[in-house]
Amino acid sequence: MKKVKVNQDLCIGCGACQAIVDSIFQIGENGLAETKEETNTMDTMEEELKSEVMDALEGCPTSAIYIEEQEEQKKEEQ
Ligand code: SF4
Repeated sequence: MKKVKVNQDLCIGCGACQAIVDSIFQIGENGLAETKEETNTMDTMEEELKSEVMDALEGCPTSAIYIEEQEEQKKEEQ
């Protein structure tokens, strides 16, 4: 599973990513960008949204946005 993430050590809080895709990126309380867990999974994104994410990734002035490969989490039956 691929997720889009922000490295807050690099982010300068310029807000460009949020301006491009505000359904995924948001500026948190610390003034730095973060991605919303509900919407940041690349695998389930529509192509149009995915390309907007790539625009944000490429447009980030500090290259703080990256795609992280995550292990599939096991669903626990309850
Ligand atoms: S575009 Fe990059 S530097 Fe600007 S807020 Fe987003 S992640 Fe941070």
